[in-house]
Amino acid sequence: MLIETFIRKQLGLKAHTVTKVEETEDYMIVHIDRLGSRLLRCGLCRQRCRKVHSVRQPREWRDLSMRKLPLKLRYRPRRVECPRCGVRVEDFPWAEPWARVTAALSNAVARLARELSWQGTARQYGLNWKSVATIVKRAVQYGLKNRTRPPVHVIGIDEVSRRKGQVYLTVVYDLERRVLLWVGDDRTEAAVRPFFTEEMGRRRCHTLQVICMDMWAAYAKLVKQHAPQAQILFDRFHIVKHLNEAVEEVRRSEMRRLSQKEKVAFKRSRWLLLKNPWNLSDDQKERLSTLVRWNAPIVRAYYLKEAFQMFWDYKQPKRAGDHLEKWMRSAMRSRQPFKTCVRMLRGHLDGILAWTKHRISSGAVEGMNNKIKSISHRSFGFRTAEHFIAAIYHCCARLPLPIER
Ligand SMILES: [Zn+2]
Repeated sequence: MLIETFIRKQLGLKAHTVTKVEETEDYMIVHIDRLGSRLLRCGLCRQRCRKVHSVRQPREWRDLSMRKLPLKLRYRPRRVECPRCGVRVEDFPWAEPWARVTAALSNAVARLARELSWQGTARQYGLNWKSVATIVKRAVQYGLKNRTRPPVHVIGIDEVSRRKGQVYLTVVYDLERRVLLWVGDDRTEAAVRPFFTEEMGRRRCHTLQVICMDMWAAYAKLVKQHAPQAQILFDRFHIVKHLNEAVEEVRRSEMRRLSQKEKVAFKRSRWLLLKNPWNLSDDQKERLSTLVRWNAPIVRAYYLKEAFQMFWDYKQPKRAGDHLEKWMRSAMRSRQPFKTCVRMLRGHLDGILAWTKHRISSGAVEGMNNKIKSISHRSFGFRTAEHFIAAIYHCCARLPLPIER
């Protein structure tokens, strides 16, 4: 079989044909021409058109490589007279109307960009970063338009930081299907409203049953407005995170209270905890008891945090509620960070107690948040939110890729 025939079949050409394949140092150039008088299609509506209006200057499209040589298609596009759209550039079966790469190459690029950075993907295919960005953005556009939208019942709303905590994005997951639904630029009420009004719409908002979120976020008001039937559930994952932060804050403030000299002594005496007490000298026993005294508030904070954890195991709402009440009373006698926590919990009791009934947590998509972090990392924290958002959709939303014709 001739290489021309092979390429024509691979490209699935019907109204076009390959006239010549030319090999240069850097490329294989595939010359394409019209096949006889077969009808061409309109580039806008894809209807077959009888009349060709004019022939334009040759254009080139980058294609996948054949062994080591990248392929380039070269063709003089026709303008056709479409009965519906008027004079238009014809439809190319191998590429999107304005693309400078073939559909096969752009899909290959899009697939690799799910695994590698855009820079790395560009290097792999001998393209520049900007071309990869364009390809990914177009793929995301297509994917968002053509993805399936089954009813959504349980969602998690969370925030991710861009550029080391200076700027935030809001991400929404379908916790049942474990897939990303939506990304918003910023974490304010105004920024997240479009999720409810545009992405979901009134009808789909009504199927929402449980919405997981952080107590310290501004999303609750939106839920009450747009999905009043849904139960707000303050996320186990976030509550535990706040408790851990409280312990850490107690530890830090205790360490601050120690003088520099005491700090050195503190560090030097830690090995005493590992020794058998009966082998200690009087001086060492003295030092050990100081160490334990200094540690006491930190240990108490740690136990307080651990004591909370039993809450997650209760099956009966009444018992879970009693446990929480007791815990909050003892935490109020603790250090400031825990008092702040308690005040926060008090204001959100309904959404915390809902755990016992639903037992849903966005911990299920914890892997996704890590994935988003690694996307940001491998691209050195995208400079614009637009690119970062496209990359998140591309890697986490399981969007369909454009179909190759
Ligand atoms: Zn048309």
